[in-house]
Amino acid sequence: DLELDVAQVRRHFPILDREVHGKPLVYLDNAATSQTPESVIQSIADYYRRYNANIHRGLHTLADEATAAYEGTREKVRAFINAHEHREIIFTRGTTEAINLVANSWGRANLKAGDEILISRLEHHSNIVPWQLLARELELRIKVIPVDERGVLDMHAYRDLFTERTRLVAVNHISNAFGTVNPVAEMADIAHRQGALILVDGAQAAPHERVDVQALDADFYAFSAHKVYGPTGVGMLYGKATLLEAMPPWQGGGEMIKTVSFEAPTTFADIPHRFEAGTPAIGEVVGFGAALDWVGEFDLRLIKSWEQRLLAHATQELSRIDGLRILGTAPHKAAVISFIVEGAHSQDIGLLIDQLGVAIRTGHHCAQPLLTEFGVDATCRASFAAYNTPEEIDIFVEALKRVIGMVR
Ligand code: PMP
Repeated sequence: DLELDVAQVRRHFPILDREVHGKPLVYLDNAATSQTPESVIQSIADYYRRYNANIHRGLHTLADEATAAYEGTREKVRAFINAHEHREIIFTRGTTEAINLVANSWGRANLKAGDEILISRLEHHSNIVPWQLLARELELRIKVIPVDERGVLDMHAYRDLFTERTRLVAVNHISNAFGTVNPVAEMADIAHRQGALILVDGAQAAPHERVDVQALDADFYAFSAHKVYGPTGVGMLYGKATLLEAMPPWQGGGEMIKTVSFEAPTTFADIPHRFEAGTPAIGEVVGFGAALDWVGEFDLRLIKSWEQRLLAHATQELSRIDGLRILGTAPHKAAVISFIVEGAHSQDIGLLIDQLGVAIRTGHHCAQPLLTEFGVDATCRASFAAYNTPEEIDIFVEALKRVIGMVR
């Protein structure tokens, strides 16, 4: 079997050479943002050095080159998630903006008082709050898909939540707080039989799983570049062409129109440009494309099996620590471990372990409804990427034991 050459992977990431508080950096906060390989950094620098120009409207060489690179990334994203057509890919600032786009465009055009939206208990705030804002305004009803004690969605309850008023299911592919992998293909099938659409928040799936939006039959799918080895400030929304075509513009401005007039109605551009008002993050989109090239070179299947080994190792080592409890014990998990330690505040653990060079995340992970359900307001979270190693996990576990000894 082929295996990921992690030593080679690590050479691509200059940041991994740095020290923190005089210790080698052990970066285990990948679910928040992943690090960036040299090729991505280079691609952005190259854009600003050689062909920085605004896209689409220019006829000069630099504008042509910038447009080609920008639209080239759209095709790379299409291939990455196996969308049918590149015009089904809309560039956004990230997952958050993609979901807000659907809520404000599709939601306002299609939902009315009394309509229902099903949202899972596992959601990130970015797949909750846009719907709450809309619900308050349009008098929609939000129903919550519950989880069991492992952090697995209750599929019986899910089926039972549907009524003839259910219009949309909003669910993540993988939970950022617990790592649970949700059965989104099955959930999409159930939603469609009930006449509802499904929006999948793929922010945590894109770095860990091969995503196929056609196989999943997702109506909308969103993810951010910065969690897939790309730059911040850019992400994408996938929508089925028939849905996007029927959706009204969300933000107005340059680039999203056909004709603008004070005397006649302004007309709008076709998809995807109808939803890309104003000058986008061109340099970041270029970097996004380079990041997908990088992932393609190393193969997500190899990355996934490597990360699963790291997850198994970390789970085993952490389970041996007295008083440590892992939250989220689903049978299908991505490389994310949330845990709490008896007698030690998560915040203190996070601060002290940083002194030892280890970066983990502490807090509510923008998933307060989930943590509340489990009776906690914060956890520590370690999350892994392609460049992490079993040795780093050992360093992390040893550091954690020291820290626990200090605070208890
Ligand atoms: N959904 C999930 C599951 C996430 O993990 C995140 C990022 N933590 C988001 C949405 C939001 O992504 P962004 O901040 O890049 O818009």
